[in-house]
Amino acid sequence: MPAGLTLSIIKPDGVAQGNVGDILKILESNEFQIRASKMLHLTEKQAAGFYQVHRSKSFFKDLIRYMSSGPIVVLVLQGTNAVNRLRDLMGATDPQKAEKNTIRKLFATSIEKNVIHGSDSEENAVTEIHYFFSDLELLV
Ligand code: GDP
Repeated sequence: MPAGLTLSIIKPDGVAQGNVGDILKILESNEFQIRASKMLHLTEKQAAGFYQVHRSKSFFKDLIRYMSSGPIVVLVLQGTNAVNRLRDLMGATDPQKAEKNTIRKLFATSIEKNVIHGSDSEENAVTEIHYFFSDLELLV
């Protein structure tokens, strides 16, 4: 897997609110290149598989229900220091604590409905990319 990749998801609230175009514009204007993308509507089982690390958390059931509540857009992004730069651009998990002009500050409505996911380490980025895409689907 080439360096500088991360996985992002425009979550069901972001798609339902019509934020896909705005979010892609922010990503592209911050020097992220889209290397793969697809729109999916996850089953609860698929959402639970993706968020296995959170299975013991109190909010796990709610998170799974939310992530399977409607279509999402899954993206593989490439750029310098992609994992950390995307996290900065997303803003804090709780949009009330997110910095001005971050994606979550602009579009998120709650700590749960926070419009975007970004991998939190390079190791997890590789695992998450392979959860959704085969090597053949990656334009890298
Ligand atoms: P992230 O890395 O900023 O996305 O945050 P986490 O990995 O800690 O949590 C994963 C996702 O679970 C978040 O993006 C939210 O959608 C959701 N989440 C996190 N904390 C809470 C919480 O306290 N309550 C609820 N309902 N959802 C949460």
